[in-house]
Amino acid sequence: MSKIIGIDLGTTNSLAAVVVDGIPQIIPDGDQHLVPSVVGLSADGELLVGQAAKNQYTLFPEKTVKSVKRKMGSAETILLGDKEYKPQEISAIILRRLKKIAEDFLEESVERAVITVPAYFSDAQRQATKDAGEIAGLEVVRIINEPTAASLAHSLNKEEDQLVMVYDLGGGTFDVSVVEINSGIVEVRASHGNNHLGGDDFDAKIVEFLIRDFEQTHNIDLSGDMKSFARLNRAAEEAKISLSDQPFTQIVEEFIAKRKNKSLHINTEFSRNSFNDMIDPLVRSTLDSIKTALDDSELKPEAIEKVLMVGGSTRIPLVAEVVKEMMEKELHSEINPDECVAIGAAIQAAIIAGENVDSILVDVTPYSLGIEVVEVEFGNIREDRYSVILRKNTVIPVTKSEVYYTMHPLQTKVEIDVFQGEHKTASKNILLGSFVFENIPVSLDDKPAELIVRFDLDINGILHVSATHKDSGKKEQITVKTSQIKLSETEKEEARNKILSMGLSSDSAITTLINKAQKLTAEMQDGDDKDRLEMLIAKIKNAVRKNNPDDLENLKEKLLDKLFELE
Ligand code: AMP
Repeated sequence: MSKIIGIDLGTTNSLAAVVVDGIPQIIPDGDQHLVPSVVGLSADGELLVGQAAKNQYTLFPEKTVKSVKRKMGSAETILLGDKEYKPQEISAIILRRLKKIAEDFLEESVERAVITVPAYFSDAQRQATKDAGEIAGLEVVRIINEPTAASLAHSLNKEEDQLVMVYDLGGGTFDVSVVEINSGIVEVRASHGNNHLGGDDFDAKIVEFLIRDFEQTHNIDLSGDMKSFARLNRAAEEAKISLSDQPFTQIVEEFIAKRKNKSLHINTEFSRNSFNDMIDPLVRSTLDSIKTALDDSELKPEAIEKVLMVGGSTRIPLVAEVVKEMMEKELHSEINPDECVAIGAAIQAAIIAGENVDSILVDVTPYSLGIEVVEVEFGNIREDRYSVILRKNTVIPVTKSEVYYTMHPLQTKVEIDVFQGEHKTASKNILLGSFVFENIPVSLDDKPAELIVRFDLDINGILHVSATHKDSGKKEQITVKTSQIKLSETEKEEARNKILSMGLSSDSAITTLINKAQKLTAEMQDGDDKDRLEMLIAKIKNAVRKNNPDDLENLKEKLLDKLFELE
């Protein structure tokens, strides 16, 4: 039987994935993973799909079609060159490309696919997607919801029953869904979003800024020139992406305009703080959708056990920050946010084909890593605060940097203490190492010094920390070892026996176990672990009330595991 592939047919980008030997993998298009959902005709009438079509968009918009997903299910037609096309036909061109790269990858013909659609898609939109598949020569064995696919990619169908939120912010669309997992079945309970919000809008804000800045400096308006505009768009996207990992970036576009035979360039520093200010209202508007999705499913944020971050734009730190603030939970982005929906579709495809699928193993840092800082809040100085640079569950290897300021303009020395842990108070975490940054050059303009602290965590848990004085480039660094240890199954078994031997083996001891767990929750700081423990306690109490011995036994095992892990 030939393989069934999974397809994420996105507004901005599309991807295909397949399970091979139990392992889901993305099917690459050359050296790229994402195939831009763009179709075009070149100057000599050749059909262009993906990156080639995207490249010509700004120069030949009349010969290029993008975001066709927004038109699926409508009777609207699209003019490409001198011909009219139905949205299904344009989507079919993208799907045919995905079918082709899958066939090259698998070295066999591919006839069947699972395709994902947003949870809010109507019947007509789903039917149009199915038709597009069939026009492309693919039997669409199932259409599944994108948040369902994201949950499958995170193996949540293999976990205990729970409510999950999937926050999906891509290039052109945003949606948030409340998903219920019940006995391995994943179902969307509510979904809300904005069909016209995403990374493209963030790029546009940077472009606006560059145009304004250039006009102020040179009195030339770049917005009228298609070629310059295309270059600014590309530069803006690159700057946005680099600001996800570092506090400053340099935007350089040479020879962008000319005045009296003299070439003019853009060469400007752009900071994450300025970017955050530009996009803040847009990002915060997504919180209203979260609220609506929760209201529609009659839930409070506390009822949600996990928040999955999906879509390339969720890599923006401000996005993660505001969602975390509202949901008060660690966010999950272990599976690459732009690949997660396609991976889920491939898993669904393998399940339909009766193949085994292994859980996806990714290396993550099991603890947050950061440094001690002093915070000034409403004029009050708060010492011993913990500023996290790498959050728990970040996929490794990873490099991230943040900017910090000295307390006083004349300060020439700082101590950098590196910690591992989750507590807001730095000293309540584990100190991994520290170094002193001396002889900081004093700035002449009476401003505190800017220090860029960079964390490089490699696959073996070795953390390289450096601090660089931004103005002079002076640098100090250390290397420390983090503890990446998670318990093995044997260790867990030993631990279980240890706790059981403490006189908790009989069912009558369940009260003691609950008391022990409750005592622990009282001592714990707020967070995922505490939420999970409280949820387990509530479930056990419920099982006791309902006198359900099977459930009780199962839950007791889980609680024992959790208690040991936490203790
Ligand atoms: P998607 O539709 O999920 O493929 O997301 C595409 C959007 O994610 C585009 O606007 C990209 O510019 C954006 N994106 C991809 N990677 C990053 C990143 N590291 N930081 C910020 N935005 C990103």
